[in-house]
Amino acid sequence: MVVPYKHEPFTDFTVEENRNDIEAALKQVEAEFGKDYDLIINGERIATEDKIVSLNPSNKEQVIGNVSKANIELAEKAMQVANETFNTWKKVSPEARADILFKAAAIVRRRKHEFSAYLVHEAGKPWNEADADTAEGIDFLEYYARQMIELSKGYPVESRPIEHNKLSYIPLGVGVVIPPWNFAFAIMAGMTSAAVVAGNTVLLKPAETTSVVAYKFMEVLEEAGLPKGVVNYIPGYGSEIGDYIVDHPRTRFISFTGSKAVGVRIYERAAKVHPGQKWLKRVVAEMGGKDAIIVDNDCDLELAAQSIVKSAFGFAGQKCSACSRAIIHEDVYDEVLARAVELTKELQVGSPVDFNNFVGPVTDQKAFDKITGYIEIGKEEGKLMAGGTADNSKGFFVNPTIFADVDENARIMHEEVFGPFVAFCKAKDFDHALEIANNTEYGLTGAVLSRNRAHLERAREEFHVGNLYFNRGCTGAIVGYHPFGGFNMSGTDSKAGGPDYLLHFTQAKLVTEQY
Ligand code: GLU
Repeated sequence: MVVPYKHEPFTDFTVEENRNDIEAALKQVEAEFGKDYDLIINGERIATEDKIVSLNPSNKEQVIGNVSKANIELAEKAMQVANETFNTWKKVSPEARADILFKAAAIVRRRKHEFSAYLVHEAGKPWNEADADTAEGIDFLEYYARQMIELSKGYPVESRPIEHNKLSYIPLGVGVVIPPWNFAFAIMAGMTSAAVVAGNTVLLKPAETTSVVAYKFMEVLEEAGLPKGVVNYIPGYGSEIGDYIVDHPRTRFISFTGSKAVGVRIYERAAKVHPGQKWLKRVVAEMGGKDAIIVDNDCDLELAAQSIVKSAFGFAGQKCSACSRAIIHEDVYDEVLARAVELTKELQVGSPVDFNNFVGPVTDQKAFDKITGYIEIGKEEGKLMAGGTADNSKGFFVNPTIFADVDENARIMHEEVFGPFVAFCKAKDFDHALEIANNTEYGLTGAVLSRNRAHLERAREEFHVGNLYFNRGCTGAIVGYHPFGGFNMSGTDSKAGGPDYLLHFTQAKLVTEQY
């Protein structure tokens, strides 16, 4: 009997013992810096000459690991293995598949601080963010295992005296899993484990900048008893193997989380039917956001300012859920802006190894250039109130930046920046605020701070986002509680961590027996 699902608690780092534990883990992981990591195809370690060098974004001199890099030939080998292994893996009972996820969750729970330490060093996550990422990964494993047990019962359909009908959900085949670097453990583990527990085999192409933590997850899956060949670990550059594995006629589905540009490209390419391909590929895509927090004139203004700052600058704004537009009722605009600026100026920026730093680095030079480019655009489009400066001499640090008095049609109100960057925009009234909020091609998260019940109910109907939060910030969805995914150019609204997520990785089969 499986106990009911509950999300993994976060670690309280005000407790000295917990601080000591993670500090020990940070040191332990530091001792592993610079190691080589091989590809894993059919359980076999394969080292390549050519490597991806995974760097510490807080300190470019520090190499977290040298990761072997798949080329087309190795990607093809992985595809053949996954294709072959599907024939046996699909016959393993859903309960047995779920058990492997339960065991994997237990292993990660035991090594929790170690995983968080990898996220601090490799992804530049502050402790709390790293801890939440690890906890979310555990949640995905626990939650999808339970969901698979439920789904294996099928959905009830009617039968008649002359016939018995049974609807069941069978796996699809080989899936290409392309996770992001920003939830380098949680989303990577969630996307992989959902595909696998549903009975599919996987080519896992981790994000280039966070391939080491993904390798560590492969070790967990092996220890948990996942048969070899079910998940094949093929780090590599999207530009080198991405199209090949997406286009492959044996690819049955693609599960992607990342930028809109890459998501759209995958979606388009997946639509093409290649010679020898017997199916229409399925694409599950979670892409960007231009998420807004609306502040009404009647609300807790302190909570509003805190929510904006935390949602905009947590993990340096590198969440697709991050608040990048603060839309404030004109009656309270000046007050909320002033308080948000004050709070922002208190934030410490620096290496996340130090617990006191709230804003860590951005992920790499490319991100740094993009964000600083938007700071220049912001200077034309708004009034710089905080930040606006950056330093990449050691790591990729951008100071949390606020632009005020931004026009609703400005570029910085529409284009995803993916950094510690938020635009403030004044609304005439609540209607206008909703109009501004919906004036975007995205539709991922949003929040409304208001005491006005009628306004909240209007937002419930009209604020067109997949995850809408009232009287809180717009980040931090929890598996099983806040199924996560958005509308329009935010993706296929596939609701990770929700009760219908596994359906994306299955197909329904009806068997009717007539008596
Ligand atoms: N699920 C995360 C949250 O609610 C964001 C995921 C992402 O950035 O991809 O904050």
